[in-house]
Amino acid sequence: MAELQTTGVPAIEVRKLCKSFGDNEVLKGIDFHVDQGEVVCVIGPSGSGKSTLLRCVNRLEEPTSGTIIVEGVDITDEDTDLDKVRTRIGMVFQQFNLFPHLTVLRNLTLAQIRAKKRGKAEAEEIARRNLDKVGLADKVDAFPAQLSGGQQQRVAIARALSMDPDMMLFDEPTSALDPELVGDVLDVMKQLARDGMTMMVVTHEMGFAREVGDRVVFMDGGVVVEQGKPDDVLGNPQHERTRGFLSKVL
Ligand code: ADP
Ligand code: MG
Repeated sequence: MAELQTTGVPAIEVRKLCKSFGDNEVLKGIDFHVDQGEVVCVIGPSGSGKSTLLRCVNRLEEPTSGTIIVEGVDITDEDTDLDKVRTRIGMVFQQFNLFPHLTVLRNLTLAQIRAKKRGKAEAEEIARRNLDKVGLADKVDAFPAQLSGGQQQRVAIARALSMDPDMMLFDEPTSALDPELVGDVLDVMKQLARDGMTMMVVTHEMGFAREVGDRVVFMDGGVVVEQGKPDDVLGNPQHERTRGFLSKVL
């Protein structure tokens, strides 16, 4: 297996990525990258392939063709140890996917103990530190159902962080939340970005993209239509399709 490299290479590099589901060609030759420490926001209409792209990055979806390189390691190479690469990538989804029958603390320690082989005490210490980071130190013994959606999503972020990922992928992390709960989750993500985390964020939160994103990528119909600095893409889009989309969401 190739050695992992962490300096000088992009965190994520996607080349000519194609993905079809049966006859449905969903990704049509995507070139995309995220540099280390960069926050890239991916926007675009429903069905444009944003989630499929994100899911290909840690091989939750099998690409039809193309190359995906994570920290210098080709994850489309069949010799690559996928489990090892995946531990470097934290994922946060629209649905929080917490285990309902486990306390918050156990939700955070489970994967650490199983996949990272940490002892219980160490895993709990790391869990508490990350819960504190997302403002939920007092919820260690709560069950997910006792928390609001925004709190559950922050637990999901803390859980991902407890695996010490090099990068975080977010797929519409606030789309399932009541409007008044969105801000707390975005604040946690802003702080993560300030701390230097590499982030790929699929979002409809244009304010977040503008304020926190280093780059915005607009996808439509399985291609990257336009990308650049948030102020340019959102404030002065060059393509008609981008203008059409933004006129509906801004
Ligand atoms: P977005 O996240 O931009 O809304 P998706 O990547 O979820 O778009 O979906 C793009 C297209 O791929 C849609 O037409 C969707 O129906 C299709 N698709 C996504 N996942 C699957 C799947 N597992 N099986 C079949 N079709 C899928
Ligand atoms: Mg999606």
